[in-house]
Amino acid sequence: MNKRVHRGHFARKRFGQNFLNDHFIIDSIVSAIHPKPGEAIMEIGPGLGALTEVVGSFVDRMMVIELDRNLVTRLANHAVLQDKLTIYQQDAMVVNFANIAQQVRQPLRVFGNLPYNISTQLLFHLFIYTHAILDMHFMLQKEVVDRLVAKPDSKVYGRLSVMAQYYCNIIPLLQVAPTSFTPSPKVNSTVVRLVPHRVIQNPVGDVRMLTRITTKTFNQRRKTIRNSLGDLFTSVQLLEFGIDPSLRAENVSVAQYCKLANCLSDSFSHTNREFLR
Ligand code: SAM
Repeated sequence: MNKRVHRGHFARKRFGQNFLNDHFIIDSIVSAIHPKPGEAIMEIGPGLGALTEVVGSFVDRMMVIELDRNLVTRLANHAVLQDKLTIYQQDAMVVNFANIAQQVRQPLRVFGNLPYNISTQLLFHLFIYTHAILDMHFMLQKEVVDRLVAKPDSKVYGRLSVMAQYYCNIIPLLQVAPTSFTPSPKVNSTVVRLVPHRVIQNPVGDVRMLTRITTKTFNQRRKTIRNSLGDLFTSVQLLEFGIDPSLRAENVSVAQYCKLANCLSDSFSHTNREFLR
């Protein structure tokens, strides 16, 4: 059989379709999620239902977001699941998760074996809605999970680490080999739990400032902070925040980035308005 065919479906590369085929892994993920009736369970990318069928056996209702029309048709006609599912045939990247949480009157429990081609952008999109999310369980490339949990002074510490740790407590749960999927991806995978902080440790007044500062510094990783942020902060200001101006983006902690973002919000000048655009 063509190795891209699974359960009679031809896996589409452009939708990042790598279907789980390993029952031990599927059961481990579902027991980590621990779904209960009455919860607002939402799966991103249910595909052929490998996780959906098992989660569905614990709950009366669940929501799924699936972009592939063929898979939506299969799910809508699924013998066991069809009466339990609310299907959003949509791109998860444009879903307003806060609106859905408001409609179901409770925070969402989101999970999924995410399409790897959009997983990082999708995480950034989900962070916007962490106030409406109870927890998230995702299968991701191992390399992405390494970046999510990376601490300063590490080569993989970046904008994703700062934004993820600003919003969430992150717990890697399980390593998964390529052979657990059909077709097999070229990378190793990790299942991770992200729990949005109920109280943000270093709240920033305007998260757009944090986004822009981290984009600016990490886009110029090799430059010192004095240079990459030279148009926004003097070396004296950086020193006042306890940041050595000769450090690079990867040496600055989440708390220090938050201080810088708040300083910009406070001294919100015309220049900084331009900076936000
Ligand atoms: N959950 C299934 C499993 O574990 O076997 C499928 C996982 S597969 C890695 C990713 C799934 O996400 C596919 O079903 C794919 O069609 C869907 N998908 C891809 N891009 C999407 C998007 N932008 N929004 C929603 N679903 C998407």
